[in-house]
Parts: sequence; structure tokens; C-alpha cells
Amino acid sequence: MDTVTRKSLIYRTGIGGAGAYAATHVVGCSHGCRFPCYAFLMMQRFGKVASYEEWCQPRLVANALQLAQKELPRLRGKARSVHLSFATDAFMYQQPEVSALTLQLMRLINSYDIPVHVLTKGAIPEEALQLSHANQFGITLVSVDEDFRARYEPGAAPYPERIAGLRRAHGLGFHCFVNMEPYPTPNVWQQDVLRVLEAIDFVDEIRLGQLNYNDVVKQYPGWKAFYRKTGAVARDWCTSHGIAYEGIAAADVRGASRTATDPEEKDLFSAPLHL
Ligand code: SF4
Repeated sequence: MDTVTRKSLIYRTGIGGAGAYAATHVVGCSHGCRFPCYAFLMMQRFGKVASYEEWCQPRLVANALQLAQKELPRLRGKARSVHLSFATDAFMYQQPEVSALTLQLMRLINSYDIPVHVLTKGAIPEEALQLSHANQFGITLVSVDEDFRARYEPGAAPYPERIAGLRRAHGLGFHCFVNMEPYPTPNVWQQDVLRVLEAIDFVDEIRLGQLNYNDVVKQYPGWKAFYRKTGAVARDWCTSHGIAYEGIAAADVRGASRTATDPEEKDLFSAPLHL
């Protein structure tokens, strides 16, 4: 796998409250999401990747561990968590070199008594489940239809495998969450939100978010009402199942405004993405 080098790795993020940090230890992502992927759009805009094809060929940050070793001592007692990652996938499907680097980074971060929060569309490896129980695991899941995955998340883990990894983590006592974002409008994909929710009825926390950066959404008549209704259904379902719920609620459809910044230097996101 090709590599790049960076000047810094761990940065403070506005997502997750005080003491929340994040790191991006890989450039690109072979999952190649076509919602589109906001991280890809930003990396292309800032000239870090030239094309979708290049984005789908991940490159490791060769000096990630050295940078982390340098930066972590200053974060001890200050960082509440490090999120992996807002701009790539830490357990990229069928990319063992990415997972190996993620595991090394997790061990290093944990050695400073700092928990890691991992969000993935890949499969959570068994080795990750032998690390600190202060770590948290999440998956992104907006459908359980494999045809949807093949169309919009072509390189990501099949849904049964993705869910099975999270179920195993939960069974071992880890705090587990699901990002249902970017949730599609019916003109993108026809489905029942309850089918998705029922597939993840074991988790601790669910967050529902709308599909941004895709004009097709606004071509759906009543798209705001659709999101309000879907949010209300998800919220009520979570309440009845004792699962914490965040995101779109009946009276609250968030806008899509984000401020673009250099993806290597600052936090790219105002919502918990990668998608
Ligand atoms: S949305 Fe996430 S999983 Fe999909 S290509 Fe982008 S970084 Fe990878």
C-alpha cells in the first residue's frame, strides 16, 4: 500500500463536546461511497486527491505512530476520546494494512488512558475487542438492502458482516452506536426505516441524519416532511426499545451548512461523519 507523511495527526474536534479529539491516519477509502462522500469532496477540493479512483486507493500515513507518540503526552488528562476517523474508515473492508495500523494506534492511544471511538462501514476485527473496554464502537447503517450497498457503498462490508461485528462488540460489553446517516429519501431508495432499526435493536445509541450534498433529495416532494416523519418514527422506536436517540426529530430538521477547512489541519465536519 502506498504511503504519505504528515506533520500532525491528532486534532481537537467540535463534535463530541469538550475533550473530543480525532485523527485521520489514512488518506482515501476503498469503500468508495457514492452519496457522495463528504471527505472525498473536501480532499478533492483541497487538492489532496485528484479523482474518485485515486480516493479509492487508500494510502497509509507512514509516520502516524511517531506523530501520535509525540502528540499524546500533551493530551493525557485533557482528551476524553479520540475518534477514528472522520475522513477515512479505520476498519476498511478487506484492507488488513489499514486495520493493522488502526489497532496499533488504538493500543498507543489507550496506553495514555484515552478511549478510542471507532466508526466503520467495515468489519470490526476480533483484536479490537481485546482492547480497553472504555473504547466505543459504531457502524454506519442506512439500509439493510444489499442492492443499496452495492450501489452506494460498493467497497464497504456487507450489512450482515457489519452488524455481526457490532453485535459481538456489544455482547462483550462495549458501548455501541449506529449512525443512520445519510438516510436516503424514497426517490433515492424505497425502504421502511423500521427494517433498519430492527436489525440493530441491541445497540446503545442511534443517530439519524439526512442525506446532504445530493440534489436528488430536494427533488423529492415533501422531503423535509419525510425526514421529520422518519425522525419521529426512529425516535419513538428508540424510546420504546430503551435506546438513546439523537438526530432528526419531529420538529427539527437540521440544515446542511458546513464550513470547509483544510482537511489535514482541522476538523472537516459539523456532524459525525464519515458517512
Ligand atoms: S463515507 Fe466513509 S466509508 Fe464511505 S468512502 Fe467516505 S470515508 Fe469511506
